Amino acid sequence: MRSLGSDEAKRARLVNDLKEEGIIRSRKVKDAMLAVNRELFMDIPLKTCAYLDRPLPIGSGQTISAPHMVAIMAEELLCKEGNRVLEIGSGSGYHAAVVSHLVGPEGHVYSIERVHELAMCAERNIDEAGIGNITIIEGDGSLGYPEKAPYDRIYYTCAAPEIPDRVMDQLADGGILLGVVGPSGGVQRLIRYTKEGERVKEERLTRCVFVPLIGELGY
Ligand code: SAH
Repeated sequence: MRSLGSDEAKRARLVNDLKEEGIIRSRKVKDAMLAVNRELFMDIPLKTCAYLDRPLPIGSGQTISAPHMVAIMAEELLCKEGNRVLEIGSGSGYHAAVVSHLVGPEGHVYSIERVHELAMCAERNIDEAGIGNITIIEGDGSLGYPEKAPYDRIYYTCAAPEIPDRVMDQLADGGILLGVVGPSGGVQRLIRYTKEGERVKEERLTRCVFVPLIGELGY
């Protein structure tokens, strides 16, 4: 018999809370959040905190995003099975793991991380979680990752001063880019850009606070 304090029970409770708060709205996002063991992506001393709805430190001065922010972004990214996705800022690999469930085995998540130790850590975590459709790349994601473009979806997990054309150009026609735009160390805005031929539709979503994008086209 499983105790009520098991990670599985805590995860189910958190997902249920996020659903009741109206943050998780779709069956797909609910299933993805239930499928990924957040504790696998955290250092041993913090594993017991894995199902608190908060960002937590993952080393190198960076944080794993709070579950509610991952859920909001998972809903707003409107992923489809088979999508090719670029994530800018792998961190622990947790967010990429959730999105990898949304795109299914035919889809793929390319995730770029500038900090060597975190790129290694994300790769190890994803391996341990037994996820096969994520590739971690070490490099400056402020330039995107043109090598595997075009992408159906691109999203930032760190705050950029703006979304450069060089990254927007890597988005497929009809594709969606979720950007975190705003000042480093201040309050930023989640913005959804949808590419419609020559036009890019822009929708301002929730306010948020992310670590800065550091690099050639970042801070
Ligand atoms: N999604 C992650 C959290 C990411 S925190 C998770 O689930 O754990 C934001 C990450 O963006 C940090 O790891 C930071 O090192 C990375 N980052 C910042 N600037 C970057 C850049 N130019 N290219 C790639 N990664 C960058």
